[in-house]
Amino acid sequence: MRYLLLASAALATLSGTVAAHEDHQPDDREAHFPAAQDGRQLLLVDLHTHSVFSDGMVWPTIRVEEAERDGLDAIAQTEHLEHQPKRADIPHPDRNRSHQIAAAEVARTGSDLIAINGAEITRGMPPGHVNAVFVTDANALLVDDAEAAIRTANAQGAFVFWNHPNWLPQAPDGVARIFPFHQALIADRQLHGVEVANGTLDAYSEHAFQIALDYNLAVLGTSDIHGLVDWRHNAGHGGHRPQTIVLAGQRSQQGLREALFAGNTVAWINDDIIGLQRNVEPVVQACLKLEPQSYLPNSSVLDVQLVNSCPLAFTLNNDGDRTLHNISDLIRVERYSSTRLQVRMNDERSVLALDVRVLNAHIRPREALRTTLSIDLPASMVPALPSAEAE
Ligand SMILES: [Zn+2]
Ligand SMILES: [Zn+2]
Repeated sequence: MRYLLLASAALATLSGTVAAHEDHQPDDREAHFPAAQDGRQLLLVDLHTHSVFSDGMVWPTIRVEEAERDGLDAIAQTEHLEHQPKRADIPHPDRNRSHQIAAAEVARTGSDLIAINGAEITRGMPPGHVNAVFVTDANALLVDDAEAAIRTANAQGAFVFWNHPNWLPQAPDGVARIFPFHQALIADRQLHGVEVANGTLDAYSEHAFQIALDYNLAVLGTSDIHGLVDWRHNAGHGGHRPQTIVLAGQRSQQGLREALFAGNTVAWINDDIIGLQRNVEPVVQACLKLEPQSYLPNSSVLDVQLVNSCPLAFTLNNDGDRTLHNISDLIRVERYSSTRLQVRMNDERSVLALDVRVLNAHIRPREALRTTLSIDLPASMVPALPSAEAE
């Protein structure tokens, strides 16, 4: 086995697909994104999970182990405060208990996972379901009035977000709609984010995304996992739970909090990433790199590898001046993988700039990111200006 790994590493080097995905193979379960070009870390967080301490099916320690296997940087324990169907079997007087057990497991195993205390305030619409994370005492949120619960969470310094506003029992036509209740909370800085992707719904809501844009809310994806991530999301076989990519100055609870409140987030579900252009573009630029190989003999066609160092596949549409010699303008690069491109370079031989639309990167509802992938070629690779063979 070891021999095979070494052999394939050698092959990768020979074919020029080098370092970028040396650490990860396409079928790896663990997700990891490289740092952004400006040095910020791309942290992977799931701010919405359940255990048997509300209506989930597993003990909180399993949530910690799943998160480790998935490569997450942080998870929040967000049990329903009010919905406690297992109460007769698992008495639950302390609403912090799920988090305490998860945090103890993190400490016991020496993990560097960041475990965050949270709660799901579970009401009819409005406000619907609202998560508060980074709470200091979830018990204090167990009050009759939903607004009072949300204000108490804010008084504890919580980051508060609106869950699954497109959930069919509360939005039968599948369209997320904001209510004056939410508008008042937002105006008073009591509500800071909204889920645009939720794993229990298995859905992306473009209407929730529009609400995030209209009201300057952080764009979030969460698993809202109740059962097992493996079964629900095919983890370990190319699947992953919906989650949030956070562009953070540092990998810590404080760094995470600051980035969430600043709205530096991208939701990730299936192969789709969703968020403001200022957040989505750095993620794409961190993931995709052009690695020039050589000019094809006696030509102005450059052989180049498009390397994807991230755990999601990208689909690009090349719509700039440079056309491709080997494939159409539709470019697919799988997770932790690379795709060979032959680019007609025309007169500019020393700089490769490829204008693309990233079809799976959404900066507005139904609008894909446009960006430029570029690289300077080493002088040794640039041929003298050519001339078509004279007759
Ligand atoms: Zn919910
Ligand atoms: Zn939930």
